[in-house]
Amino acid sequence: MCASCDGVDRTDQESRGDGLSRRALLMGTGLGIGLGVLGLGLPVARAATARNGAWCNPALGYFPNGGHFGAPRGGASHAGQDVTNSTGTAVYAAAAGTVIRRQWGGGLAGRTGNGIVISHGGNLYTYYGHLNAYRVSLNQKVSAGQRIGDMGATGNVTGPHLHFETHAGGLGAVVDPVTFMSARGVDLGGGWPSLDPGASGQRVRVIQHLLNQRGHGLVVDGSFGSVTTSAVKRFQSASGLVSDGQVGPKTWPKLVYSLQQGANGHHVRGLQTALNKRGAGLVVDGDFGSVTNTAVRNFQSVNRLVVDGLAGAITWRALVG
Ligand SMILES: [Zn+2]
Repeated sequence: MCASCDGVDRTDQESRGDGLSRRALLMGTGLGIGLGVLGLGLPVARAATARNGAWCNPALGYFPNGGHFGAPRGGASHAGQDVTNSTGTAVYAAAAGTVIRRQWGGGLAGRTGNGIVISHGGNLYTYYGHLNAYRVSLNQKVSAGQRIGDMGATGNVTGPHLHFETHAGGLGAVVDPVTFMSARGVDLGGGWPSLDPGASGQRVRVIQHLLNQRGHGLVVDGSFGSVTTSAVKRFQSASGLVSDGQVGPKTWPKLVYSLQQGANGHHVRGLQTALNKRGAGLVVDGDFGSVTNTAVRNFQSVNRLVVDGLAGAITWRALVG
């Protein structure tokens, strides 16, 4: 079952020019409020919260040819999904959890290179392989979207990339990361996340700030409850979208603003909230000054985006995904 990517873990730099779409890396939202929702015993909210809002894309890059889950690997099959980008690209925790391995191959049979295993509870684990550098310590608790390492080419590889695995039902029980993440609202191949009513966390705060820029007057509590859902539906209706209350790939692009230094308002608060989920540590004051500008540029730099300080759709997608 658990096969390694050892020896044949290819990256395909040529695919960059092949018209493969640029992927966005995406962060998730916190788990804390979601647990509060669970405590209320709302089964619908629990299902939505478990499915999205708490998971994020671990790295920005490209899917190399032959790097998918189950690809032939010398008699075995590839245990994860490869994501190709340059050495030093930020690698993020796909969800909140605890770093239980930080060692060569993650201590997993057949894996090579600097590896991290995060336990997310519920018998769910993620593995991050071939890292160039660690940015967390063993036993450290991490949040979704927190930077845990740098992409690299350690171990038996042909070029820098992240080897990303998802384990469900116990460490070693690998499942297709694309399917696994999709079920949690994350498009591992790039793109906007999908957040449903019942989700909670930082991304919901971002949505609330963006709606407030349009005059919705929401309490920014990170909880995608009935009031926020109504506001989303009104926004969708006014924007010519299907009014289903889900903030997904069609709603996000219409919801975000293109922002740069000098901007001021609720939309900037949304941007600052999204940057903070990536560790920026900004004061959420709605003022896009030099500190926010630096935070945007830093984020763009470590994710290999164009570093221009302009928070446009591509940067937003990478921030919230
Ligand atoms: Zn691999």
